[in-house]
Amino acid sequence: MNRIQHLEAQIADLHREEGILQDCDTRRKTEVDKELYYLNIELEKERSKVLTCVYCGKEYPMGVPSFELQEHIKSCSKHPLSKALADNRYLKGLLEAMIRAFTNIRDGDPVTEEAIKLQFVTRRQTETLLEAYKAAYDC
Ligand SMILES: [Zn+2]
Repeated sequence: MNRIQHLEAQIADLHREEGILQDCDTRRKTEVDKELYYLNIELEKERSKVLTCVYCGKEYPMGVPSFELQEHIKSCSKHPLSKALADNRYLKGLLEAMIRAFTNIRDGDPVTEEAIKLQFVTRRQTETLLEAYKAAYDC
């Protein structure tokens, strides 16, 4: 439960209590009103806090799960991580094309460690292809 959810739960509890208080219980009603007042201020403060993508400025309120910002970063056109991920995909594609060029793995067949091991290439070529493949896919 994040801070906003915690505050919302506290406020909901107080509203429930407020609903069952007797008219004569003015002292507790005053306390509940006061607590609600301060909790609502605290809640508004928390809601006004935002997480921001430092590269494009897109804002996410504090209550939003952090994975939404992480997903944004992966596709943000201004964030260096999205460029690194695109470079990674491009280089993996090139590596696969090179492995296909040096082996008999056909287009459409998956390039896997096992498929590389089955190729009729020299032991040195197999080791090099496997090393490149593992470096690209095992990290
Ligand atoms: Zn961004």
